[in-house]
Amino acid sequence: MNNPGDTSGINTFLNHPPLVTLAPGNTPLLQPIYQSAKFSPNEELPYWEQFVYGRISNPTLRQLEKTLAHLQQREDCVVVSSGIGAITGMLLGLVRSGDHVITFQQLYKPTRMFVRDVLPRYGISHSLLDLSRLAEIESAIIPGKTKLIHFESPTNPNLFIADIEGIIKIARRHGVLVTMDGTFAGLHQHTHFDIDLMVQSLTKFGNGHGDVIAGSIAGRQELIKKIREITVYLGAHLDPQACYLIQRGLKTYFLRYERHCSNARAIAQFLQSHPRVKSVVYPGLDSHPQHSLALRQMNDMGAVVAFAIDPSVAPSADAFCHRLRLIQLAASLGATETIIAPTLPFFGTDLPENLRETLGINQHTLRLSVGLEDVSDLIRDLSFALSEEPK
Ligand SMILES: *Cc1c(COP(=O)(O)O)cnc(C)c1O
Repeated sequence: MNNPGDTSGINTFLNHPPLVTLAPGNTPLLQPIYQSAKFSPNEELPYWEQFVYGRISNPTLRQLEKTLAHLQQREDCVVVSSGIGAITGMLLGLVRSGDHVITFQQLYKPTRMFVRDVLPRYGISHSLLDLSRLAEIESAIIPGKTKLIHFESPTNPNLFIADIEGIIKIARRHGVLVTMDGTFAGLHQHTHFDIDLMVQSLTKFGNGHGDVIAGSIAGRQELIKKIREITVYLGAHLDPQACYLIQRGLKTYFLRYERHCSNARAIAQFLQSHPRVKSVVYPGLDSHPQHSLALRQMNDMGAVVAFAIDPSVAPSADAFCHRLRLIQLAASLGATETIIAPTLPFFGTDLPENLRETLGINQHTLRLSVGLEDVSDLIRDLSFALSEEPK
């Protein structure tokens, strides 16, 4: 097409523009974004050994999957269009009607709602246990029916720590799979545990800049194959532009994570010493009830600090948030800017009141995701909002 002497019309030309190819050995330093929904197959190769259609895969997506598999020390990885898509795709890939799953009250609200309200429609039952009572897991296992135990650590929003070794031991005794949502801990932690599948919301630390929604599942080839079969039919693939942004974000992953953690520690210590803060939950503080378990399982304690204000500070956590100037009230976490969310309206409205209270969710609790700003500015903002008299 469009060689000299080509007689095709201008509309044909515009729809088949010149292809610019590189000489062998002339390579771009960064892999280009393959912004193409379809690929023309090589006649000599079977279709399944090539890229054919963007919903199935794309080189930009595949590069990200390989990077994330290696980072998490797993054989393979599937990248999908959200963290919740990773969790629901994983569950649908592993269970079928008649199966039972074990998970915990201390779960990210949409995950809890999917297991509790959606899975039963497809004949999949569940037990929603208390993550701090390991002994209950064993008696909840239904032989021949329980397929997996799914947990988070630290949990969203209140940073409970799962006893991972304990959970794995029970699961292995009964031939049950272990799946973990490690979003709060990031991609580099817990990789040495014998966890069958590691899920992440890449929206958080993976991408790290708050401009992409994405998720991933990493694990053994044979399990990833099962999950990929479902996610392709759910149409949950991630757009190549978004894949590129995450790939780019990962270059500074460790630099960012380190600063997130040091800022979060300083803020947790500041809040703990403040007379108008009732309680602070941060796995890196001695006062965290599972501090020693956290130290055994994690090298870095993360960017999220949960705390409760004294009712004399503000009538509600929402009102407190609106008093902050630099720190904005927003959902999500793990991006460069510090944000805060009142815990009750964001994470607890589906729970009965007594359970909310047990999980540390009430009118005066907050979840702070610490970013990369100068920590003195963040502390000044918090300090100002805590000292102001209620209106
Ligand atoms: C945010 C989050 C998710 C969901 O991820 P999305 O990318 O928002 O769909 C799942 N689990 C945890 C622990 C999260 O914090």
